Amino acid sequence: MYDVLIIGGGPAGMTAAIYAARANTKVAMIEYSAPGGQMVNTFTIDNYPGFTSINGADLSLQMLNQVIELDVEFIADQIVSLKRDSNSNFILKGTENVYSAKSVIIATGTKNKNLGVLGEQKFDGRGISYCAVCDGNLYKDREVAVVGGGNSALEESIYLSSIASKVYIIHRRNEFRGDQKYVEKLKEINNVEFVLNTVITEFKGSEILDCLSLKNVSTNKTSELKVAACFEYVGQDPNTSFVKDLGITNEFGYIIVDENCETSINKLFAAGDVIEKNIRQITTAVADGSIAALNAVRKVN
Ligand SMILES: Cc1cc2nc3c(=O)[nH]c(=O)nc-3n(C[C@H](O)[C@H](O)[C@H](O)COP(=O)(O)OP(=O)(O)OC[C@H]3O[C@@H](n4cnc5c(N)ncnc54)[C@H](O)[C@@H]3O)c2cc1C
Repeated sequence: MYDVLIIGGGPAGMTAAIYAARANTKVAMIEYSAPGGQMVNTFTIDNYPGFTSINGADLSLQMLNQVIELDVEFIADQIVSLKRDSNSNFILKGTENVYSAKSVIIATGTKNKNLGVLGEQKFDGRGISYCAVCDGNLYKDREVAVVGGGNSALEESIYLSSIASKVYIIHRRNEFRGDQKYVEKLKEINNVEFVLNTVITEFKGSEILDCLSLKNVSTNKTSELKVAACFEYVGQDPNTSFVKDLGITNEFGYIIVDENCETSINKLFAAGDVIEKNIRQITTAVADGSIAALNAVRKVN
């Protein structure tokens, strides 16, 4: 029986682990993928205090080292269900094992949304990618597209412009939602082209992606764009399917918490991108992680 069981090893989960371990509780962090969460797939992070600029994998490693030094138990598993037993303890079922805990912190973050257009499934991993850091190098000196208008799309376009021969940034609106600083920087890069007011209507090719069908939403004009890859950054969905029946999520699946990061279920906490909030950043994830852990510890001690 754990005092505090943390689901997810991104910045929110790792911070929760650090705070819970320092409070001398029996704590474990469950993660099915690489610790670091979305940071692992981010090329540079320019807005995390203490580092003017740091590679996402490096920041992940620094956080993980701190977790390891505190002897937090790391469990490689994917949680698929969560419920309470008759003693009000939590029972977590993973694909590998079953765990019990007095309190739980859900820090499972989000997963990438996709566009839902023709050919998207067929070319997933065959030209369509959700991770420039992972796959960018496969398209060295070739023409690629990025779709999206937020910071992720803009930041990763900057990164891709140093690898690809040309980067087309396709966005359905006339203006980007992301920081103006990135937009200005991209305007100065001569192998970057903005394709605004435009949506992708189909991914085409035979075995691998070869071409995008585009539609200009202001003129309704259609066109085709030959690219070797398309990197999608069109938003996120929360990883909350395993708690969808507990009545703690909003209409979009994000977990509703109070100022202590506690859900409406006693001793069930949530932190980071998975909760209902406006700003989803590493700084806000680590803040939530510390709040959730300190309140969880207070309730189990
Ligand atoms: C391309 C990109 C660039 C970004 N750039 C920046 C930036 O420059 N600065 C910034 O501040 N933020 C940036 N962000 C946002 C930032 O990465 C997130 O806000 C932050 O990672 C959220 O942390 P988290 O711990 O809440 O969730 P995540 O980082 O999503 O971590 C959640 C973890 O939970 C695990 N998990 C999920 N479900 C389960 C389960 N059922 N069982 C076990 N484990 C599970 C996942 O594998 C994952 O490792 C960027 C995001 C992206 C996608």
